[in-house]
Amino acid sequence: MIKNMIATIDDFARTQPEKVVYDVQGVTHTYADLKRYSDALAAHLDTLDLAADAPIIVFGGQTFEMIATFLGIVKSGRAYIPIDTHSPNERLTMINEIAQPAAVIAVAELPTGVGTTPVITPDQLAEIFATPVDYQVDHAVSGDDNYYIIFTSGTTGKPKGVQISHDNLLSYVNWMLSDDFGLPEQPNALSQPPYSFDLSVMDVYPTLAAGGTLYALPKAVTDDFKQLFAALPTLPINVWVSTPSFMDICLLEPKFNAENLPSLTHFLFCGEELTHKTAATLKQRFPAARIFNTYGPTETCVAVTQIEITDEALAKFDRLPIGYAKADTQMIVVDETGEPGEPVPTGTEGELIIAGPSVSKGYLNNPEKTAKAFFELDGQRAYHSGDIGTMDADGLFRYRGRVDFQIKMHGYRIELEEVDHFLGQQQHIKQAVAVPKYNKEHKVTQMIAYVVPKPNEFETDFALTTAIKKDLQGMMMEYMIPQRFVYQESLPLTPNGKIDVKSIMKEVNPE
Ligand code: AMP
Repeated sequence: MIKNMIATIDDFARTQPEKVVYDVQGVTHTYADLKRYSDALAAHLDTLDLAADAPIIVFGGQTFEMIATFLGIVKSGRAYIPIDTHSPNERLTMINEIAQPAAVIAVAELPTGVGTTPVITPDQLAEIFATPVDYQVDHAVSGDDNYYIIFTSGTTGKPKGVQISHDNLLSYVNWMLSDDFGLPEQPNALSQPPYSFDLSVMDVYPTLAAGGTLYALPKAVTDDFKQLFAALPTLPINVWVSTPSFMDICLLEPKFNAENLPSLTHFLFCGEELTHKTAATLKQRFPAARIFNTYGPTETCVAVTQIEITDEALAKFDRLPIGYAKADTQMIVVDETGEPGEPVPTGTEGELIIAGPSVSKGYLNNPEKTAKAFFELDGQRAYHSGDIGTMDADGLFRYRGRVDFQIKMHGYRIELEEVDHFLGQQQHIKQAVAVPKYNKEHKVTQMIAYVVPKPNEFETDFALTTAIKKDLQGMMMEYMIPQRFVYQESLPLTPNGKIDVKSIMKEVNPE
């Protein structure tokens, strides 16, 4: 059991300074580098006259400097907010407004201004990292202090900042390093999801806390099948972390198998439904490896349930369960109409409630949304997941869908209301609603926008769609833009005059 994340990571700089901590396509850095860089940044931050206690935004991609920046910030006693380079400018602007950060550290060049927030530029950061210091870690983030804040989709077009404390993270990491997963002692882990998604915490922190090595696969590689398939067999990894959707892409490459990747012993999945088909195909390719399905919202720190998908599990379940709650966490199923709701009988569907030491204190600077989603259960922080599920008599949980209009597409969390919000702001759209199209394995394959357009001069629907999509690219995350646009003269309404989303969903997904 580790007790302090920062001290644990720093200790490896003493016990194994030359061990590689980060490898991005053959460019490597060691634990000694990590300590040197992060100490230097912490020392520099301490000298600045920054707003007390405010977090710091970190803008960048999948690089060693990002990880070193995160560690430098928490050493200096502040939380970091990771923002990926592929975010639209509006997201950076909005997070800057909501978070009121003490500073922005631009690990990569900023694409837009951030008002009066102080900025550390990439050149300045390089200089800071290169300045040797003798740093005493004596006011680092600890206990209930925020360690990181990750922004997720919000219904009104405003993202929500999930505050994760040092102790939230510790509860999660200690579980990952427990016998529940039996990870290799010093994992060589794939680092694929961008650091702005909480899935990345599944590879970064268990690996750093165990003195292992992260093998980064940057977006430029994963976006290009040719590069990706060339890179995959060269990765000396033993732990795989990704969404099931990313695995589906990798499985398209026939050479992605145990013969070419003999060291791979553990596959960890989270973030969306792991289908029977994906798990069964993977098991055929890597018969000796262990596959884990895990489940959890960002608000409860990455994951709170797990189950190993063995051959027996594949034979027993058509739709794979999400597993058993981690030992320090209480999960119950309640009648979703109640507040906080009465537990339902074993095996009955209801909303999953998660209570325990990894549950967030709430959304940053958003008491209203926090009060709606978080509450106290038996003296512990609890979260309304909004997920519908069941629990068996032996504590095995299954996922069955959502109580609201949140979806997962290709692993990305999307509030459909947020998509609607941006559609409604587009100049050619009078009224619009986005609906998901599901396949028979309960996965969203496409988002379809039903649109009533304003009068316009476009000659074809295609031209109109192209113009709308182009506009939306500057406004919202790429993955939130609907793939298909269907134009109508009017949309069906409910008796109280709102767009009847459910009837459109039924039309798109006939039983
Ligand atoms: P995020 O906050 O992005 O991690 O998204 C959390 C949501 O993803 C959960 O509330 C679920 O709706 C969904 N989810 C996560 N893991 C799983 C899983 N193993 N099976 C089904 N849905 C999942």
